[in-house]
Amino acid sequence: MTAGDPTRDDDSGQGGLTAHLRRRIAVEGPISVAAFMAEALGHPRHGYYITADRFGAAGDFVTAPEISQMFGELIGLWCAHTWTEIGAPDPVNLVELGPGRGTLMRDALRAAAMVSKFRDAAAVHLVETSPVLRERQRAMLEPVLKGNGPTWHDTLATVPDGPVLVIANEFFDALPIRQFQKTAHGWTERMVDVDDATGGFRFVLDRRPGPVEHAIPPSARTAAPGSVFETCPAATAIAHELGARLERSGGAALIIDYGHPRSAVGETLQAVRRHAFAPVLDAPGSADLTAHVDFEALANAARDAGARAWGPVTQGAFLAGLGIRERAALLRRRATPGQAIDIDSAVHRLIDDTGMGTLFKVLALTDPRRPAPAGFEPA
Ligand code: SAH
Repeated sequence: MTAGDPTRDDDSGQGGLTAHLRRRIAVEGPISVAAFMAEALGHPRHGYYITADRFGAAGDFVTAPEISQMFGELIGLWCAHTWTEIGAPDPVNLVELGPGRGTLMRDALRAAAMVSKFRDAAAVHLVETSPVLRERQRAMLEPVLKGNGPTWHDTLATVPDGPVLVIANEFFDALPIRQFQKTAHGWTERMVDVDDATGGFRFVLDRRPGPVEHAIPPSARTAAPGSVFETCPAATAIAHELGARLERSGGAALIIDYGHPRSAVGETLQAVRRHAFAPVLDAPGSADLTAHVDFEALANAARDAGARAWGPVTQGAFLAGLGIRERAALLRRRATPGQAIDIDSAVHRLIDDTGMGTLFKVLALTDPRRPAPAGFEPA
């Protein structure tokens, strides 16, 4: 047997995920894009997030908290402020979904120490599936928390009940999406199959009968043939769960990601390796696979569960409103000339249109009794 043989049992080492997926498709037939994405990112042995720490200049991509400490600090202050506004509950669960290296939470806790009662009341809970990243988070946060956590969870479900402040930066984009394509005969799901000629993966249309129209919002149903619509069932399920928690126990959530404010047709699944786009179906497990977040779908799911949704506003407007320029000016005073240049370039990257300023959006969810949280006040 050769390494490329789809019937091969051993799926260890490089290409292990490709061999595993070929076998799965040989048994089940073509799999959904969501199934492919879930395996590529989260396969227990070969998944992209499971096998290594991919962040930073030497890795595949850089996220906002890795660009500058200011990002996490402003979010920490937002949390402390929001906590005061919701009546300073003690204890309060400070939850982060997909914390990566733990950088955002570290910076947030440092800034939030200004409100010492909030720091004392906050119990830190991290929802993270990757053992490698849990280790990074432990090393980053245990010294800061001094014996008071953090506590890890596979899902939000096991986070103890009670008032919550939830942060999710670039978490929802990593959740598996389904893709539907409009054909001359209506909507059908896009699947992933093995290309017999090359042994690689390719998109095919689902040939099984069964209407999928219900998955498409009415506004998109009349799209032209060839149009693609993406849904993210895991994202809407989590937004619904967050909404139910907020309605029941009070608190707020801040969801930051790239995406669109309204549900719309368009294909956004993308692979990124070493800071460059890569073909989405090539070498699964070796590139980050993400899709733009449908903020309208998240807001609707949270509202259905009884919460209030605010925004989304652009990341640029949000950070400017929280005072990133003022914070940068303060940091510049104590900085060397080289550091001052880095501070300025970080601000530009985080808030300018040419950087993350408009592509990234911020959605807040609160319990239904709350006024607008900071950064979401009507103009
Ligand atoms: N928030 C971080 C990391 C973003 S990358 C930052 O801004 O730098 C996505 C993070 O979500 C990683 O920590 C990844 O391991 C985690 N993750 C991805 N899918 C997950 C899932 N289904 N459940 C829990 N965590 C997940």
